[in-house]
Amino acid sequence: MDERLGEDARAAGNEARGPIRIDLGFVNAYLLPAAEGFVLVDAGTAAHCAKLEAALGRAGCGKGDLRLIVLSHADPDHGGCAAALAAAYGAPIALHPGELPQFERGETPRRSGRGLAAKLFVAFANRPGKPAAAGRSALELGEGSSLAEYGLEARVLHLPGHTPGSIALLLGDGSLVAGDILANMRRPGLSPFVWDARRYDESLARLQGLAGSIATVYPGHGSPFPGEAILGIEPLGGSRP
Ligand SMILES: [Zn+2]
Repeated sequence: MDERLGEDARAAGNEARGPIRIDLGFVNAYLLPAAEGFVLVDAGTAAHCAKLEAALGRAGCGKGDLRLIVLSHADPDHGGCAAALAAAYGAPIALHPGELPQFERGETPRRSGRGLAAKLFVAFANRPGKPAAAGRSALELGEGSSLAEYGLEARVLHLPGHTPGSIALLLGDGSLVAGDILANMRRPGLSPFVWDARRYDESLARLQGLAGSIATVYPGHGSPFPGEAILGIEPLGGSRP
């Protein structure tokens, strides 16, 4: 997180700014400036709460300024601090209903690993997580949901594959906040953890059809990359790895 972003935020006003990347080390969260206040996408692991709060503060997002916490999916590296931030900032949490078993009860969707490292880590990826539930019912986002009531020009895309209820936000400026549907560890690609390969490939094909209208992809892991790079991402092949 660049210290200067917070200064820019206050100087420029919110409307003209794109996603603010909060780099938590191996995972990102994104703070999206809304017409008034902010929308946060993803909330790190349970160990990231102080770091997230500090980053929000630097960006000019105080206790009353966070309007919504969107979870791209409910994995423990994305929903870890959702409950704590929801309580601290008085912001509701929103996610796709396909993520509720994990969000509410820690029931991790069973996944395969692609590549040696992911195969070694798949047991870790499949372990039951700590539920990220906030003690209040989460708002449900589905395909085509709008975030206009939160001051954000954004459309929800339901893109299952990494998990059942993975979503991305396509913003009015062409930014795609992609969660783990797309990653950029060494190069733009898919997550190494696959819940359903056929649906993952369908989601990729859909994004490739939209690539011309996506300026920049903001992935859950790794650095942002140009939308046109989506066209070069290889599908899984439709078979379960
Ligand atoms: Zn992740």
